Amino acid sequence: MPRIAYLTHPDCALHDVGPWHPESPKRWQAIDAALRAAPWFGQLLSVTAPLATLEQLRRAHTDAHIESVRNATPPSGVAWLDPDTGLNPFSWQAALAASGAVVRAVDAVMAGEAQRAVCNVRPPGHHAEADLAMGFCLFNNVAIGVLHALHAHPLQRVALVDFDVHHGNGSEDILRNKPRVLLCSSFRHPFYPYSGSQAHAGFIPAPLPQGADGIQFRAAVEQLFLPALEAFQPQLVFISAGFDAHRDDPLGGLNLVEADYAWITRELCALADRHAQGRVVSVLEGGYDLGALGRCAVAHVEAMRHPENPG
Ligand SMILES: [Zn+2]
Repeated sequence: MPRIAYLTHPDCALHDVGPWHPESPKRWQAIDAALRAAPWFGQLLSVTAPLATLEQLRRAHTDAHIESVRNATPPSGVAWLDPDTGLNPFSWQAALAASGAVVRAVDAVMAGEAQRAVCNVRPPGHHAEADLAMGFCLFNNVAIGVLHALHAHPLQRVALVDFDVHHGNGSEDILRNKPRVLLCSSFRHPFYPYSGSQAHAGFIPAPLPQGADGIQFRAAVEQLFLPALEAFQPQLVFISAGFDAHRDDPLGGLNLVEADYAWITRELCALADRHAQGRVVSVLEGGYDLGALGRCAVAHVEAMRHPENPG
């Protein structure tokens, strides 16, 4: 059975911009508690994330952006970069831990410490562009991981599949025109951030209408993503794992269920088993129903453990 690493950092639960905000520390706690309650939790390789270095952040972000986030971090209270995206005194540290987890996950799967890795991190990242924080995101954790993988390891082809209900505009911005990267992104459209519907070299979008269910989602993945991924033969597969397309999510407006997340996870792990020595790095993005988050995270890891199971 593939060994799976679980990466997180307690500071990811300290970033808190108010009890009304959907991107709350309870999300981190819901996933952490659900995984710890699973009978196989003890078989995971638990890793406390290191903090990302400036060098690692600079591969994805401008110095001006990094400085603007650092300078916005308030000594007390909450500071806002836009009406959605805030920081409290712990946010800088949490953001570095979130990005650092993905970097460490890459190194873990490349060194063979684990075959796959799951990063329970927040603030999320996929809306953060090279020079812009937005959509609850400060630094683009997964893009920092992708660029670390290409810089620090001898990889020619890396794939990123983003199944968050929102288009990962930041990942598209940062990874655009990187010939060694294939980005596949499914998202509700038109919907925040109202971008992403145009395919281009290295970017395959799967826009889904409001209310789309698992049948529509799976059809899009089967028709658009899987043939392209198979042809690309990635040597490492990243997942931007947002669970806000779940039918219980208060923001998403789509109708996926746990079995749909298990299905795409199995497909991507099987792809990785064929081409990438099984190497998969999954990074939490959105997902705002606490019960669904925990159940989806468990289904996601179980599918990583048993990609051969039907369903
Ligand atoms: Zn989202």
